Amino acid sequence: SAYVPASERYDTMIYNRCGKSGIRLPAVSLGLWHNFGSIDNFENGRAIVRRAFDKGITHFDLANNYGPVPGSAEENFGAILQKDFTGNLRDELVISTKAGYHMWPGPYGDWGSRKYVLSSLDQSLRRMKLGYVDIFYSHRPDPETPIEETMGALDTAVRQGKALYVGLSNYTAEQTKAALAVLQSLGTPCLIHQPKYSMFERWVEGGLLDVLEANGVGCIPFSPLAQGLLTDRYLKGIPEGSRASKPSGFLKADHITPEKLDKIQRLNAIALQRGQTLAQMALAWILKDKRVTTVLIGASSVEQLDNNLGALHKVQFDAAELQEIENILR
Ligand code: NDP
Repeated sequence: SAYVPASERYDTMIYNRCGKSGIRLPAVSLGLWHNFGSIDNFENGRAIVRRAFDKGITHFDLANNYGPVPGSAEENFGAILQKDFTGNLRDELVISTKAGYHMWPGPYGDWGSRKYVLSSLDQSLRRMKLGYVDIFYSHRPDPETPIEETMGALDTAVRQGKALYVGLSNYTAEQTKAALAVLQSLGTPCLIHQPKYSMFERWVEGGLLDVLEANGVGCIPFSPLAQGLLTDRYLKGIPEGSRASKPSGFLKADHITPEKLDKIQRLNAIALQRGQTLAQMALAWILKDKRVTTVLIGASSVEQLDNNLGALHKVQFDAAELQEIENILR
């Protein structure tokens, strides 16, 4: 059936300015790493994207390799755009993609060379049937390629009109500083950094967030729910169809140790006291830091998406709650 976006789609979402740029992003963004590949149900993914947009999620995050199979998430997203986001709706969307992980065989299908980065973007645009993406990322630092070359490729993508902004992902604080300086010198300032950040993964607090703030760069933490650990998903074992139950992906059943589960249960109790689900509290906990622009979630159903959006009803914590959470995470 034809999709007509909800007329009230901008009424409740919060939009935060991305660093010192002109762009505001929704406090919650949707990632298509899982659940949108050729192994997944297309109509389920399509329903999630429609629902997201109806709720004010204007930002969709992809990468060349999302699937499985690699590339299929971009193909499916392109198909959703063609079916549902016609007319001028493209102008209401911020679409991201990335290059940096293995994509095709041979020496030019991985890492950070100019050769790989620019041809990968062309492939992504073809798969999504787009003329440009809004944000193009270097997906990871390449220790063997000069930073000038990788950043130069991002700058070229913008000058070619194939990307509006550029971003970095998985760069350490030091690597980020070096990359920001090169981008600045080229006249293509970095819009945003995409690091892994959740209650269970706090490396960004050790310097990266300060570097981003000092340079006016936004921050979009990925896996804020630790791939589903920071939800009620695994409180009573590993349900069929959950990410930890599947052979593809990086969340394995043996990551859910008794020690982790104990922390999850105790965090869950605090969330319930706050009148939230654990997923909502985990997202609010990331959003409490003003250096964070938007949390980048995944969802395997419309229900999960709705639940996660409920986080925005209560993002503040009192000091006692924060201390209790610290005691559990320690
Ligand atoms: P999350 O930590 O948000 O995990 C999402 C998963 O958690 C869902 O697929 C679902 O798993 C479960 N879940 C979500 N909401 C709920 C809920 N309310 N209740 C119960 N379970 C829930 O993020 P992801 O790991 O998916 O990463 C998000 C995005 O970040 C990716 O799509 C990608 O765009 C980006 N990313 C970037 C990386 C990078 O290197 N730059 C690396 C990884 C991700 P289930 O399938 O079990 O239902």
